[in-house]
Amino acid sequence: MKKESVGVVETKYYNLSEELELESGKRLKDVTIAYETYGTLNKQKSNAILVCHPLSGDAHAAGWHEGDRKPGWWDNIIGPGKCLDTDRYFIICSNVIGGCQGSTGPSSINPETGKPYALKFPIITIKDMVKAQKKLIDHLGIKQLFSVVGGSMGGMQVLQWCVSYPDMVRSAIAIATTAYSSPQQIAFNEVGRRAIISDPNWNDGNYYNGEFPDNGLALARMIGHITYLSNESMYEKFGRRLQDKEEYSFEFSTDFEVESYLHYQGNTFTKRFDANSYLYITKAIDYFDLTENGTLSLSDAFKDVKARVLVISVDSDWLYTPEESREIVMALTANDVEVSYCQIKSSYGHDAFLLEAGQLNYIINGFFSETLVVDVMTINPATVTENSSIEEAAELMLDEKVTHLPVVSEDDKILGIVTAWDISKAVALKYNKLDEIMTRDVITTLPQDSIESAARKMRKHNISSLPVVNDQGRVLGLITTDHLSTLIAKDKY
Ligand code: SAM
Repeated sequence: MKKESVGVVETKYYNLSEELELESGKRLKDVTIAYETYGTLNKQKSNAILVCHPLSGDAHAAGWHEGDRKPGWWDNIIGPGKCLDTDRYFIICSNVIGGCQGSTGPSSINPETGKPYALKFPIITIKDMVKAQKKLIDHLGIKQLFSVVGGSMGGMQVLQWCVSYPDMVRSAIAIATTAYSSPQQIAFNEVGRRAIISDPNWNDGNYYNGEFPDNGLALARMIGHITYLSNESMYEKFGRRLQDKEEYSFEFSTDFEVESYLHYQGNTFTKRFDANSYLYITKAIDYFDLTENGTLSLSDAFKDVKARVLVISVDSDWLYTPEESREIVMALTANDVEVSYCQIKSSYGHDAFLLEAGQLNYIINGFFSETLVVDVMTINPATVTENSSIEEAAELMLDEKVTHLPVVSEDDKILGIVTAWDISKAVALKYNKLDEIMTRDVITTLPQDSIESAARKMRKHNISSLPVVNDQGRVLGLITTDHLSTLIAKDKY
């Protein structure tokens, strides 16, 4: 399929009408959220996908800003024909609070002083970022997100969404991320922060009217950037090649290409990022811990998750390792959450989640196009009412050549189920009334559930059928193990 661009886009702004209460207990006034949207929200508002950005990302995930030379940071997977297909989905991406690309952060004006917040800005957490995003989603009138997708810090937000607002997330894709920051990740962040704080221009965060702490911020970015690459990709890209020279200089000037590259990355970063935002956002990453500092197991943390989840890791990622992704998969599985796991094969290291567009498009397309119950169920199956006799139920089974009959009320609402197995029981134990043999505690499924989740339910409860009901419990269909046996319904990991 042809992959296209969403074209020229504009950032929009939403001002929260109320103060935002933060995890720290502090309150943030006059919060603005910068966001972009691509594609069209359908009438039912059921096709929205929230994209969550990584540390240095922003709301501009796809398309082009007028006059720009580069598209949005995830343009390779967002757009017509791409896996985040704007012909089908309504994509939303917002800048996190604490950021510096339009959402309220330390460089914003503090309404109490009329000056930039600087360090008067409250400490924010990933949970706070997600809480602010939820206000935007509410404002857009969206009750449930078709999916929440993100990598790295974006993946943390994805997991936080699943935990904080389980009913609002239908599916989730967490890429190259973790459920809690490790000591090594915290250590790298702290070195970056120290680089900024040690810059004389930092001036306790009050630099907005003078020289900016560009050296410190560039150094922080250089350290961060090393963690986003792999030794292999550095060999591929630079090897030990020298920069614009034939021999070692025997001085402390730049000798190697890799040094020059890091300086370039550091310097360009200072042109688009605020040093104080770097401090605040890395702190939010450090505090991220779904186990609440070890007081919960990760499976307990995920106990309310309702979304279907896809976890993707990168084999060469040593910052957010595949082991950390597998731990997420195990903890979700322990809660019977439907979870798929894929590993990107790449030498790029952590950065692969931004660069390996081919693999990402393939994996995410597969996840979104999974077969749903509605695609395979028997529509309007034969049913019996509660006051039918056992003989009537048995005759109906023979006539319709079925072995499962949902028992319904007059308005077709599910009351129970009776199966050929129950009829045998009636014959063996000489029961006369349907009421004596039907199962009232009936397990059902929704039409939009995936067949994997239906198969799981059947396995878990040792049953061979599930009535398919709508939100009001009205029977719409029936799915049985016969339907599944014609399809490949096995786990992906
Ligand atoms: N595995 C076989 C089957 O599903 O029919 C036999 C064992 S299973 C324990 C049999 C019982 O499961 C029957 O009493 C039947 O009413 C019940 N049953 C079947 N589908 C059900 C469902 N969706 N929810 C609850 N009970 C169900």
